[in-house]
Amino acid sequence: MKMEGKKKIALIAHDRRKKDLIEWVQFNKGTLSKHELYATGTTGTLIEQKTGLKVRKFKSGPLGGDQEIGAKISEGEIDVLIFFWDPLEPLAHDVDIKALIRIATVYNIPVAITRSTADFLISSPLFEKEYERIQPDYESELKDRILKIVQQNSEQN
Ligand code: PGA
Repeated sequence: MKMEGKKKIALIAHDRRKKDLIEWVQFNKGTLSKHELYATGTTGTLIEQKTGLKVRKFKSGPLGGDQEIGAKISEGEIDVLIFFWDPLEPLAHDVDIKALIRIATVYNIPVAITRSTADFLISSPLFEKEYERIQPDYESELKDRILKIVQQNSEQN
């Protein structure tokens, strides 16, 4: 899976981490302005207001925004996930958060869940370059599974 030099970056922060993310975006505004930014609703609105950067906004996280971003990752439409989640508060949409991190792992995209990782990520030379992202061959795994199910079903009949 090829990632272009211009990356599609999803930004999400839980309420108690929004200040942190906005500071990080402001600090890295020059670099981030060269890429396409996406975010959950509230995070995106605040980033636009505070930094002036243009952000494509999904629904708010608790209303499905994390799942929308997960779907975009599975379609190859998001290259990088910066996700400042709150490790000290249970949230209503905890399952969506887990699902988002899972799907980011399935598609092997770079994910930063701490500010220091986000610093390392954005200062990597790969951040501005094309990058070939290794991904398991899910297509043939799927074909094998279908074949197996068809075989099992015909054995039962
Ligand atoms: P928000 O969603 O940007 O709309 O606050 C983030 C989240 O809680 O997942």
